Amino acid sequence: MSQLRELYQQVILDHNRSPRNYRPMTDATRKVEGYNPLCGDHFTVYVRLDGKVITDVSFQGAGCAISKASASVMSSTVKGKTTDEAESLFRTFHALVTKGPEDADIETLGKLAAFAGVNEFPARVKCAILPWHALRAALEEKGSSVTTE
Ligand code: ZN
Repeated sequence: MSQLRELYQQVILDHNRSPRNYRPMTDATRKVEGYNPLCGDHFTVYVRLDGKVITDVSFQGAGCAISKASASVMSSTVKGKTTDEAESLFRTFHALVTKGPEDADIETLGKLAAFAGVNEFPARVKCAILPWHALRAALEEKGSSVTTE
């Protein structure tokens, strides 16, 4: 388990240091701002849709290592997926960070599994889930901003 933990930590450090898809998107179909007042994480998530397929995702903003790494891993994971697949990943990821790895479907999570340890730190759960809330709001067209509170 400690080897797995180390691997998870590497993924988070790597995505925090060099976040993927960290750029504005001028031709985004949808754009949502996400804010986590407890930690100060503040990101804008951009989505480009072609029908029900997410053809591009990017984000900009600032936050702690967990939130930034989560936005980076989220963006690279849902790119190319359908909105339904993204919703199902949201649910799996949500279960992972709130209830822990036992209940989650680790197989389907890929790099998202790196956040398995987050459930042991309740204050960090909202950091990890923030980019996902913003993505979901963008996909469901639920306004232009979301907050974890
Ligand atoms: Zn945070």
